[in-house]
Amino acid sequence: MESHYLHQFESFKIIQIPILKDNYAYILTNEKCTAVIDPGDATPIISKCKELNLWPTHILNTHHHWDHTNGNLGIKEEFGCEVWGPLSEADRIPGLSKGLTEGPIILGGLNGQVLSAPGHTKAHILLYFKLDQILFTGDVLFCGGCGRLFEGSANEMYISLQKIKALPAQTRIFCGHEYSLKNLEFAKSVGIKNLETTEIAWTRQREKNIPTVPSTLELELKINPFLLARSVEEFTQLRLLKDNF
Ligand code: ZN
Ligand code: FE
Repeated sequence: MESHYLHQFESFKIIQIPILKDNYAYILTNEKCTAVIDPGDATPIISKCKELNLWPTHILNTHHHWDHTNGNLGIKEEFGCEVWGPLSEADRIPGLSKGLTEGPIILGGLNGQVLSAPGHTKAHILLYFKLDQILFTGDVLFCGGCGRLFEGSANEMYISLQKIKALPAQTRIFCGHEYSLKNLEFAKSVGIKNLETTEIAWTRQREKNIPTVPSTLELELKINPFLLARSVEEFTQLRLLKDNF
């Protein structure tokens, strides 16, 4: 049986499932809907749903990369759910039934917000739920880091990160990968100060195999070099350094 981590919020609960090498898939569930976010693999998600007696109504993909979408078809076949993902990546998302662009969505009776955040891929989206201040960042923002620029420009990614920075500080960051400790090492190497408390906490969590995700925007604004970059130029430089770190 796969392990999972439960986060209880007012409007829904989030089940966090480590999959593949270092990915996180999430199941967002309340009385009205059950949405699987970024299922990079069908098998562990299907067995988790059966174990917890959940019937997915939706799959939501933040972007087209295989480690976030490979489970789409298997889960869709098993449960007959809808598949929602970024419209401009529709041709690269298996089983897509509805293309999303920036703006409001209604999910499980809740008002969510799709934020367009290109940079990692050309049409990457973020999913924001204001009521509980929850943000799914896929591969745009990680704990202590950000995604690589595969299809977008540094300028696009910089703007995407500014969008995240504008959200309330209490926002919880649920991202697509467990990269936190490596990211902290990089942050240290570029002179970010006051990382000790976070490093101790995250190291302890990882030793017990507990996710460091979710983080909060408040913490990220203190430790994440990519959010601390004051200009596109500074961001570009940091991203280049990280690519070769
Ligand atoms: Zn990706
Ligand atoms: Fe990924």
